[in-house]
Amino acid sequence: MRGVIMHAPGDVRVEDRDHPTVVEPTDAVIKLAATCICGSDLWPYRGAEPVDHQPMGHEYVGTVTEIGADVRTLAVGDFVVGSFFASDNTCEICRAGYQTHCVHRQQGAPGGAQSEYARIPLADGTLVATPGQPDPDLIPSLLAASDVLGTGWFAAVAAEVGPGKTVAVVGDGAVGLLGILAAKELGAERIIAMSRHADRQALARRFGATDIVEERGEEGVARIKELTGGLGAHSTIEAVGTQEAMMQAIHATRAGGHVGFVGVSHDVAIDGFQLFRSGVHLHGGPAPVRRFLPDLIRLIWDREIDPGVVFDLVLPLEEAAEGYRAMDERRAVKVLLTV
Ligand SMILES: [Zn+2]
Repeated sequence: MRGVIMHAPGDVRVEDRDHPTVVEPTDAVIKLAATCICGSDLWPYRGAEPVDHQPMGHEYVGTVTEIGADVRTLAVGDFVVGSFFASDNTCEICRAGYQTHCVHRQQGAPGGAQSEYARIPLADGTLVATPGQPDPDLIPSLLAASDVLGTGWFAAVAAEVGPGKTVAVVGDGAVGLLGILAAKELGAERIIAMSRHADRQALARRFGATDIVEERGEEGVARIKELTGGLGAHSTIEAVGTQEAMMQAIHATRAGGHVGFVGVSHDVAIDGFQLFRSGVHLHGGPAPVRRFLPDLIRLIWDREIDPGVVFDLVLPLEEAAEGYRAMDERRAVKVLLTV
């Protein structure tokens, strides 16, 4: 089978790889219907994280082709959505809704998911079957649920978004944009998107943003204060992971408000006294996408939400390297790879 290997920063190749098989009796093997490139894949691509011949990809939807002897809830032929961490979904941490911190947590697709087939550990806990075989036009949205939608949704929940609230969103990548969609679905009254790119602003508005702030850093914070009677947002989504973005999120939030941070943190250092003074709640980390999958699949299946429009470039798996370039150069928000 074919699959993506990142040999070194900037060096992505599609190669012949061994066909994955069931290793543990709790595994499933799936045939990918589609896969995609994540903003977090750009960290190693840009040399900001070490990488050496790494199989890539952790977002996946597809059809079960093989199951281990202990898999009880899935059958060959089921169409499934999973997430970037495998979880048993039965331990105390999972039952509390924090499956990304499962005591038996493993990588969701240890051999990579930018490939034709993938092995998924802890299949019963990790994978959620759709009600039937999806119409082809639903596949991008189901794929979005496997990471970016689930992560944006968690950010909104962690930021305590709800009716009557004003929400600020730092980051106009796929997660930030789908955080806007989540905020709207969760009843936010006003959603302020921070973006300076016309195409991303248009998507932000489509997903429910009511205001756009182009300024960054403390200027951006000042604009949000202006828009909120000097108080700041009730709820802020941080979907970047840099120092500037994190401080922007904390400072844009009113005292007593909540920051949901889901950008993978890179060299962020929070000054204790500034945090003390801010009076805001911080909650975030790797999103427990599995918690939200049943609801997200239903919303997509019933065509109530259309997160798949976040994919603005579709390429065959063989052209994955061009997909990485397009995302690195910000020519694409998010790239879907057809398998
Ligand atoms: Zn668990």
